[in-house]
Amino acid sequence: MFLKKKEQPEMRPESGGHTKLKPKPEEDPEFHKYRVEYNRAGCIGGDICTFIDPKHFVMNKADGKADFVGAKLVDGKWVIEELHDPTMIEPGGEMRRAADCCPAGVIRVVRIKTGEKVAGH
Ligand code: SF4
Repeated sequence: MFLKKKEQPEMRPESGGHTKLKPKPEEDPEFHKYRVEYNRAGCIGGDICTFIDPKHFVMNKADGKADFVGAKLVDGKWVIEELHDPTMIEPGGEMRRAADCCPAGVIRVVRIKTGEKVAGH
């Protein structure tokens, strides 16, 4: 005896004739908001970040460490809570390169929405 195969429900496009597709994560504006942390105490100088991203990092001649422009001191680290500029963070962007190239590993970029580290150490 053969059992009849259960009928599958028919796939129908939603009203208007279009099938709704799930948006890609990168299409969400929240995906492109970043927190940047700088542990100034660990800076060993060398001018790399200031060369790559002079908009955010300038050398402080008094102690030879970089200052993080626009950051606030939070729990001992200099932080920009919400940097919404994908061109600085996505591959090739200045902030991303500064974080990745820092020899002391004291700059870190985190995607706020997911908590994932996207640049730095
Ligand atoms: S690249 Fe890193 S170690 Fe060098 S000045 Fe910038 S923060 Fe300091």
